[in-house]
Amino acid sequence: MRENYEAVIGLEIHAQLKTDSKIFCGCSTRFGDEPDSNTCPVCLGLPGALPVLNSRVIEMATRAALALNLRVNRESIFSRKNYFYPDLPKGYQISQYDRPFSEHGWVEIPTSERNQSGHAVAWSMKQFRITRLHLEEDAGKSLHEGMPDSASKSYVDLNRSGVPLAEIVSEPDFRSSWEAYDYMQYLRRTLIYIGVCDGNMEEGSLRCDANVSVRLRGAERFGTKVELKNLNSFRFLQHALEYEIDRQIEAIEAGEKIVQETRLWNERESKTYCMRSKEEAHDYRYFPEPDLPPLMVSEEMIEELRAGMPELPEARRRRFMEEYGLAADDAAQLTDARPAADYFEAVTRASGNAKSAANWILNELARELKNTGTEIDRSPVTAEELASMIRMIDACTISGKMAKEVLADMYRSGRSAEEVVREMGGGQVSDEAEIRAIIDQAVAANPRQLEQYRAGKAALLGFFVGQVMKASEGRANPQVVNRLLKERLDNTEQGD
Ligand SMILES: [Zn+2]
Repeated sequence: MRENYEAVIGLEIHAQLKTDSKIFCGCSTRFGDEPDSNTCPVCLGLPGALPVLNSRVIEMATRAALALNLRVNRESIFSRKNYFYPDLPKGYQISQYDRPFSEHGWVEIPTSERNQSGHAVAWSMKQFRITRLHLEEDAGKSLHEGMPDSASKSYVDLNRSGVPLAEIVSEPDFRSSWEAYDYMQYLRRTLIYIGVCDGNMEEGSLRCDANVSVRLRGAERFGTKVELKNLNSFRFLQHALEYEIDRQIEAIEAGEKIVQETRLWNERESKTYCMRSKEEAHDYRYFPEPDLPPLMVSEEMIEELRAGMPELPEARRRRFMEEYGLAADDAAQLTDARPAADYFEAVTRASGNAKSAANWILNELARELKNTGTEIDRSPVTAEELASMIRMIDACTISGKMAKEVLADMYRSGRSAEEVVREMGGGQVSDEAEIRAIIDQAVAANPRQLEQYRAGKAALLGFFVGQVMKASEGRANPQVVNRLLKERLDNTEQGD
């Protein structure tokens, strides 16, 4: 029954812009400070206080707009959005309405459905349109103590009041919960990449509302949409959409009508429930903010910021595959955050071996970083040192197996690859005379195995390789050992 239906999803994402001060006053945006300590007459909404736009907000919003292929309007207007709520001291929020900061954007990103165990089924590139990105101020925060009854208490903290937000509204282009999920992941990664949002969802720096409806496959008209509020983690977003799609299909199949309403997701109960119906919806009575002039953005400023934009994660992922021949998964992991991508490129430049660089970073180094809770840009093993270790492997100075120990030591001690290898008694032995001497000893010490080998038990070659590796304390080059051993064992004219 579900296959007959198609979901139609649009997302509204609020991203907190990473400025030091608020959007219309000089108060700090620092998270976690004493309640109401970062406030002034402007963000407290006291009579007579006038807002002044923070220019860093324009810069960051422009960068975000450029990253999402949005057209920045040369002139946009701030409007008052009127509603009453205890955490909104002015009785209105300064936002943008009919003339937003930017419009008509899009992203093209990899997306995939997931199977039961959460693994991607098949990635494909899809384009999603972005309606607009506009600016607004955040409201304060209500804190509730106890269950909602007569004995409970509520508090208001206005530190958040006036924190700059970019609201990014998509077109209803998502057809599944996973498409919405992949889009939001991409958006978060991109905003962090360009340094305009810290992406911290626990602290509320990134919040998501979704509009969901379903329709019969092939139908042109949209079904009645339901708004899901405050989906503040990727898991909640995906779970809530999945639940809501099923709920709507079941209702339609049962002959019920979908009611236009706002619903909330309850993760503990794994269901959405109604918060307010359409009749209770706000009429915001928008009108232009009389205390702020139109927001003007010059072409020169846009071009200057465009020139300073870094390569975006999706473009970088594709380049890593083309330029370095990396597998799609490795490229995606390495470009997930900018510091890892920068580190990888530094190792590759210095070692000349991209595949090896990717392997060491994603496996051995990643494990050490994880175990010590360290970010890659603070790794005790610098990109240059990892590269010098990789060069030693490529030159057969150390084996891959030794390198694991070398890296662990480098990570612990912060010493260079060269120092560690020297202390371990030098690198891998590839010297044939030296290896022949060890082979001779191994052969002489095991006459019975030699006899069996020569009688046709070829698998005993492995036994001899093991003996030689042990005698060399793992330092003999295994390829050379294999070759010389075979020569030696097959040569019956040596008098043994
Ligand atoms: Zn203030």
